[in-house]
Amino acid sequence: MEKDEILRWLREKDEARLEELWVRADGVRRACVGDEVHLRGLVEISNYCVRQCRYCGINACSQGITRYRMNRQEIIECIHEIVRFGYGSVVMQSGEDPGLSRSFVSDLVREISATTDLAITLSLGEREDEDLRDWKEAGADRYLLRFETSDPELYRKIHPSLPGKTSDRFSQLERMRDIGYEIGTGVMVGIPGQSWQTLAQDIEIFRKYDMDMIGVGPFLPSPHTALGGPEAAGFYLDPEDQVPNDELTTLKVVALTRLVCPASNIPSTTALATIDPESGRELALTRGANVVMPNVTPPHYRVLYEIYPGKACIHETAQVCRNCMERRIHSIGRVLGKGPGGRRGISPRLAAK
Ligand code: SAM
Repeated sequence: MEKDEILRWLREKDEARLEELWVRADGVRRACVGDEVHLRGLVEISNYCVRQCRYCGINACSQGITRYRMNRQEIIECIHEIVRFGYGSVVMQSGEDPGLSRSFVSDLVREISATTDLAITLSLGEREDEDLRDWKEAGADRYLLRFETSDPELYRKIHPSLPGKTSDRFSQLERMRDIGYEIGTGVMVGIPGQSWQTLAQDIEIFRKYDMDMIGVGPFLPSPHTALGGPEAAGFYLDPEDQVPNDELTTLKVVALTRLVCPASNIPSTTALATIDPESGRELALTRGANVVMPNVTPPHYRVLYEIYPGKACIHETAQVCRNCMERRIHSIGRVLGKGPGGRRGISPRLAAK
């Protein structure tokens, strides 16, 4: 599919034509990754962050936020729950937090790797190559780092670099792949200043880099951020150029992503479930997605990981989230995934167990 065709689909409004897109995406999903929906247990291990991202509610400048960092024992208890629930993998996510030292994360990964059959995914922001190598050696399998937008000017404005270090997430993703990680990325849909052209280019880039996992969700304004306040007005494009942060556009991106990356793992995201708690999860799963990431973070920490307000499932226990996901997956005639559900088959580490 050429960029012009991607662009045409993104701008398509006719429901009957769109039905064709949904059917194509669901057919490719079924043929290439099957009916299994893989469950990844999400543990939000810290909300400390050194970054000043203009979109994210836990950025370093956010006022009035209680910061937390889970200790080893608390994280291991979540891991036990993930194993008990039968999920095939864990995703440990945080703000970019130097307090999560290289050795703390290595020891944690080594312990999870030695004591469970879970695939281990990290999403801890832009870290030094030495950290990434160490964690890979300790047993980490995958790393998630969204490039957020492929428009370099917009990226620079919404994701300022740290002093003396230019943020280049594309080169970081490539280095992570060289180190041996399965790599996951993604973008937000409807960032103030995001054009249709840029969004079409984002989807082309998913294909170009042959990403293993691709997460897309709507941008949701947070009152703790520049893009959630009056400053955002200066970012928006003319209405005909500006991508809306709505459900339909997000679903189009999910479907097009499946068409250009047939074998990738694509989650039905929490941000989408936040704007449509009733059926957002199911709609994405029937239009290209094959992964969900139920939250396993203890509720008293979960409420503090507020990257945007009103996050879906924020007050639920891990058990409630598990039951709810299972019911939703069965309601659309799909089955719970078994095992780690990696893009590139079972990792050598897990195969050796
Ligand atoms: N610190 C790591 C990083 O930057 O990759 C991981 C945590 S970060 C909170 C995870 C993702 O949340 C980001 O990649 C971004 O796409 C998404 N996110 C942050 N703020 C958001 C917002 N206001 N609306 C929607 N998604 C948001």
